Amino acid sequence: MLVSYMRIIIFGPPGSGKGTYASRLTAILGIPHISTGDMVREEIKAQTEIGRKIKEYADRGELVPDEIIIAMLINRLEKPDAKRGFILDGFPRTMRQAEELEKIVKVDLVVNLNVPDEVIIQRLSNRLICGRCGAIYNRLTLRPKVDEICDICGGELYRREDDKPEVIRERLNVYRRSTEPLIQYYRGKGVLRDVYCNDLMTPPETIVNEILKIISEYEKESVER
Ligand code: ADP
Ligand code: ZN
Repeated sequence: MLVSYMRIIIFGPPGSGKGTYASRLTAILGIPHISTGDMVREEIKAQTEIGRKIKEYADRGELVPDEIIIAMLINRLEKPDAKRGFILDGFPRTMRQAEELEKIVKVDLVVNLNVPDEVIIQRLSNRLICGRCGAIYNRLTLRPKVDEICDICGGELYRREDDKPEVIRERLNVYRRSTEPLIQYYRGKGVLRDVYCNDLMTPPETIVNEILKIISEYEKESVER
């Protein structure tokens, strides 16, 4: 049985599938999918004051300053739906963010996606996003039924501004430099579990099932504790 009051982080490099898996898990577990990347893109699209401030960073593949992203996340976690647990995707990305998160909630589980660089680059350079509902597609592996159109909502698909080769490279560098060290931080706390995806063609369901297995093991352990 899956109890939903869990606070889960989906962790991994850009293009490791965090958003794809998190959006499927959210439907199964009934807890919200909180993606700071989606939040960033929404602010930019809506041309809010914050959106204007952060566009440059996001377009270049750099991290948005900690103060801004932390404030956005805290705001989101205060909404009632997040009180029942959540799946965090894209946060934390720096030590400072991890420490701030720790001050407000206890993280139950960190799922660390291990994906080789070649797979990441293939994925990101073929990724398509729905402009209306944010669903994620891929020209190679997750094609929409009708070209350029979202299966779910009929919206038009587009390529993300930061899915260009030079920006992908920068995002990977930023990940290695600022974000990857968090793996040791969470491993040290005993909450991190590894998942491996070495093949571009592995269907999302396979990985989602592995994650669900990890979650149910966690729940069994916490009942026994
Ligand atoms: P990716 O596919 O690279 O994992 P996301 O969709 O999670 O990308 O994020 C897109 C962009 O939004 C990042 O490159 C960064 O500029 C910004 N962003 C998202 N989350 C954070 C965060 N926690 N800290 C700083 N910047 C962030
Ligand atoms: Zn859509």
